Amino acid sequence: MKHMIARREWSYFVVMALAAMTHGCQGEQGETGMDDAADSTASEADTSADSEDTEPADVSDEAALPAAGSLPEALGSAWPGASSLEPNEASVTAKDAPLGVTNNLSITKGDEDWYRVVVPARTVARVGIEMNHAAGDLDLVAYDAQGRLLGSRNGAEYPYTFRGQETNTEYYGFYSEDGGAVYYVRVLGHAGATNKYSLRVDHYSYVDGQTCTGAGFSLADCDGRGSSGSGLIPFPFPDPSDSLGNAYNFASYSNYRFARRELVMLVRHALAETREAFPGTKPLSLIDICQMDGVTPGYDIGDPRHPQSTHDQGGNIDIAYFQTDGANDAEIVCNDGASHADGYCTSAAAKKHIVDLPRQAFFMAKLFASSRTRVIGTDTVLAPLIRGAAQALAALPAGDRRKISQSELSAFSNRLAYGSGWPYHHHHIHLSLQWLNQGNARAGEATALSAPAPFLGPGAQDAEGDPKPQMSNSMQAPGEAVDSLDMAWPPRP
Ligand SMILES: [Zn+2]
Repeated sequence: MKHMIARREWSYFVVMALAAMTHGCQGEQGETGMDDAADSTASEADTSADSEDTEPADVSDEAALPAAGSLPEALGSAWPGASSLEPNEASVTAKDAPLGVTNNLSITKGDEDWYRVVVPARTVARVGIEMNHAAGDLDLVAYDAQGRLLGSRNGAEYPYTFRGQETNTEYYGFYSEDGGAVYYVRVLGHAGATNKYSLRVDHYSYVDGQTCTGAGFSLADCDGRGSSGSGLIPFPFPDPSDSLGNAYNFASYSNYRFARRELVMLVRHALAETREAFPGTKPLSLIDICQMDGVTPGYDIGDPRHPQSTHDQGGNIDIAYFQTDGANDAEIVCNDGASHADGYCTSAAAKKHIVDLPRQAFFMAKLFASSRTRVIGTDTVLAPLIRGAAQALAALPAGDRRKISQSELSAFSNRLAYGSGWPYHHHHIHLSLQWLNQGNARAGEATALSAPAPFLGPGAQDAEGDPKPQMSNSMQAPGEAVDSLDMAWPPRP
């Protein structure tokens, strides 16, 4: 199944690419001086631990679904038979996931649990499991109503062997515009692991729209303030049947998809506008956003993926470039033949790149249209090309759906960030909304945040002999252990 294979390679590639991007957003810190570590909204980051040695999965294949023919091959024979304990081992008999917390659930040997999620109208359902990961490595996997795989912790594949981002929690977001959309989640042990778990379902009101407060939400509901992470919502899977359609996919771990409501709305709105103005627009990859607790991705496992605090507060997201081949995925877009060890396109990329400039400029114009957008970071060589494309869009005759306004155009001069402080944005753009003055998730830490250390340039070599940048210890938050980062460079296909 060609698609699945490509997807799996792509996911691995994303893992490596994201590891390479841990310096990717350091420019923002120097600009803003985020000195506002005030009230804490954070819960402690989950700690992951090594899973115990377990026996191979003991599953049988006798269960069948009405829609089994549409199941991805990756699922293969992983449909277990009925268990005497629970009648919810396959989606056809899945129990409805109750709202709130259900404790004392368990996966026993050879067991797996399925739950049905029916999402009310204008609601994002956050569905997840919590466990003591050290006692048994459970996975949560998401499927649509037809049994098609939507995603796992590790991007959009299952099963997977990569275990680098495992924690005590696993959450997904599901949205239904009209209400009644059906999803399934599946709980099972990795490599035969068993464990207890609790299931948690929370509902957050949500509606698409140009602005969050304009849609009737309070500013606090929009900008993510709230206790215990409740202020951030999981960026939901796209629903191909709603008015936005299949507009995006996730090139990141499920734990790193938490965002302010206003960010989810803005990105979905900008995508909707782009798809309307540019028919045939292919799905765009969304990369790291934020942890559920408001902290920058990777701190949950002591392996930060970005400079300290650059993705805090759920108001920052890395997004792939729109590309001329329609892949729109998380990859280097320079196409200039360089090794990109320093994280930038070379000047040759001004003539040779794969950015779909009109579409990219239009999408960014719609992101800039929000007064909540603080800055968008891009590569320094690509920035003037994108600005030029924006000028061309602004010069289109009235009535052209792709025309952008003068105020949108002006943002390409005063809110477009690039330059030596923005390495790795030859791979993605970084959208940053206004920082909050309170509610910083890190306020409980001993010392205030400081700006990330300067980029140190190429250092050691990775396993393939390619150069990789060095990680400065000063990117470490107080009290946090940071492993040496295993960085690699995403190869051009
Ligand atoms: Zn970023």
